[in-house]
Amino acid sequence: MSTTDYLAFHEGDWKPLSQCQVPINTHAFQYGTGCFEGIRAYWSGEHANLLFLREHCERLYRNARLLMMAPPSVDSMIGTLIELVQRNAPGRNTYLRPMMYKKGTGLGPVLKGVPDGFLAYLIPLDDYLDTEKGLSVCLSSWRRLPDNSIPTRTKATGGYLNSALAKTEAVLNGYDEAIFLNDRGQVCEGSAENIFILRQGQLITPDKTADILEGITRAAILQLAADLGIPAVERPVARTELYMADEVFLVGTGCQVSWVRTIDQRVVGEGVRGPVTARLQAAYEAAVYGRDERYAQWLTRV
Ligand code: PMP
Repeated sequence: MSTTDYLAFHEGDWKPLSQCQVPINTHAFQYGTGCFEGIRAYWSGEHANLLFLREHCERLYRNARLLMMAPPSVDSMIGTLIELVQRNAPGRNTYLRPMMYKKGTGLGPVLKGVPDGFLAYLIPLDDYLDTEKGLSVCLSSWRRLPDNSIPTRTKATGGYLNSALAKTEAVLNGYDEAIFLNDRGQVCEGSAENIFILRQGQLITPDKTADILEGITRAAILQLAADLGIPAVERPVARTELYMADEVFLVGTGCQVSWVRTIDQRVVGEGVRGPVTARLQAAYEAAVYGRDERYAQWLTRV
């Protein structure tokens, strides 16, 4: 089955993705006025395990309200996403994309009073970034959007132009991924990932005021670190701490846990996957594939 044959939810109805269309004067298309989520459904061989389904729906709900939209209730979104997987029965790893968007067609970049809509579709997805090889990353020449400009925290569609500029620059220059600094010159996040570094046995990740998306995988890694007895702190991270770190890895729904081998052509640590990264990566994989009962509440079985 090709991607476009999967059923999607749009305008309150189920239709093949290829038939879900919006007018060219749609507000979200003109002004980037939408917000979205990316949720993984891991295929266990017998059923799909939707990872952090409620957490993603809660984030979408809060973000949509900040952008002055009226989202369906969290429980209603959860129901639609479960139905999306049931109706398509994809039998493989997939990625679910629910979105709230301004579907009005009026002129002018305002938020209040513009009609909005909810949609959801899925696509097949295995790795987004290579989790095995060790990534080659660069610091982007593009600064991360400050919270007072376009809040990264809202996962707004328009904000992803910032990510697209950084990722494109990185890939055109031969790197796998870009790391943003924020407007204070501190380490922020990747184009679609949060970042962790390890220094002297301590795990460090930029805090929630560093213009990052408050990543759900980031929170999961902090929980795993606590459970494994690995000390961790959320605090501002200076640029040169990255180059001096013993281990660096990126986390996110898409990239999962992907270790970094070089930053701006400087080798991280010994240039191999570090032991702390390896432990966290293994613990994360066991949890998301449902092999570790202690994290069963992370998953919604469909
Ligand atoms: N930062 C950005 C900019 C992202 O797009 C993503 C992917 N959603 C992440 C971080 C990771 O967030 P999460 O773990 O919630 O997927």
